Amino acid sequence: MGVHDLGILVQKYGGTSVASRDSCAKVVSKIKKAMEEGYQVVVVVSAMGRRPAPYATDTLLDIINSYGVEVEPREKDAIASCGEVISAAVLATALKAEGLKAMSMTGFQAGITTDGTFTDARITSINTARLLELVGMGIVPVVAGFQGISASGDVTTLGRGGSDTTAAALGAALKAQKVEIFTDVEGVMTADPRIVPEARFQRNVSYHDMAEMANLGSKVVHPRAVEIAMKSRTPLVIRNTFSESEGTIVDDGPVNDIGSTIADKPVSGITHTVGVTRVLIDISGKSGEEVYMEVLGTLASEGISIDMISLFADRVAFIVADKDADRTDRALEKLGFGFTLTRGCGTVSVVGQIMRGIPGVMSKVVRALRNAGIEIIQTSDSHNSISCLVKAQDVERAARALHSEFEPGM
Ligand code: ADP
Ligand code: MG
Repeated sequence: MGVHDLGILVQKYGGTSVASRDSCAKVVSKIKKAMEEGYQVVVVVSAMGRRPAPYATDTLLDIINSYGVEVEPREKDAIASCGEVISAAVLATALKAEGLKAMSMTGFQAGITTDGTFTDARITSINTARLLELVGMGIVPVVAGFQGISASGDVTTLGRGGSDTTAAALGAALKAQKVEIFTDVEGVMTADPRIVPEARFQRNVSYHDMAEMANLGSKVVHPRAVEIAMKSRTPLVIRNTFSESEGTIVDDGPVNDIGSTIADKPVSGITHTVGVTRVLIDISGKSGEEVYMEVLGTLASEGISIDMISLFADRVAFIVADKDADRTDRALEKLGFGFTLTRGCGTVSVVGQIMRGIPGVMSKVVRALRNAGIEIIQTSDSHNSISCLVKAQDVERAARALHSEFEPGM
């Protein structure tokens, strides 16, 4: 027990943070430090490491995917949920070895109920009784992230990166002071530092910008976690397990007298995605709306989600994930329209207070990509972003070109 009572702190540790014995030792010391400061700590963990690490989520999925049959989503979740359960038991033991009181918990034991959408479930409620009881006794609950239990009693998972969502949801339900997301970078940068080495660290990012970045592919934190934090007004702090840095605070951000976010630049960050397929449907001779409704209905019933939708007089264009390309091909074939699929695409987006209606930002995007010799296949925009579809092999160069054009964070 600390000297001050600072309330509840939720700390989430990602896959690299719990990957090895050494990294677990770092995690233990972070937890210890927070307790010494006076927090009651609730920990959420991801699976240990990445493929080919033995208990990484993809390694586990590979086992059942090797049977050459389409694996039922329920079984996918049954195996995918195990990685986090293993991490929780390992970290709880590591904490006990250091003299702390700890207890591992599955999502179900932590009181997390979800809807029944296997592989992409949403948390519907959290019964915090047991967690509160444990922290009240000075025991650190170590909760397996990424999972819950449906009303029918089945184990569900929350989609890739879903441990962030577990942490944010527990933070909201427990009325935590803040939720710390520990990972392998210093915090939220102006672009993914893995592909844009000039990316700059940001001390403070608004919920709004973070949500937009997450939705457009920045995987540093899951979009749903940002959404939950924003709604419950729980600050999120993105921090590095392997350094002492303070990290990035995601909250209301710098606001002016009338509560609107202060932005001194139109663009605050660049995001990218890979692994998307462009679908172009020829609708000549038919009504656009009719085709549109028919295609949307069919793909929706297949559970295929689409993005970057553009409707023209003679064609409809949109993107799907590469992993859904074959199913999309089959579904459209049945409908009998002429169409083409372009696999192996990606997107780059500029995010911020883009200031809709000001042509400057769009023309800078086009100029920067053209100067880099990159073909823009299609664009889409919202109030706070402009996205370009490009070939996957151009994505990294495109992100770097946009970053040097806009110099976000300067
Ligand atoms: P974890 O397993 O800890 O959840 P993730 O791999 O999901 O870790 O997320 C951390 C990674 O997010 C970083 O290693 C980095 O490559 C990537 N990333 C993407 N965009 C950004 C960004 N804007 N700022 C920081 N990291 C980013
Ligand atoms: Mg993650």
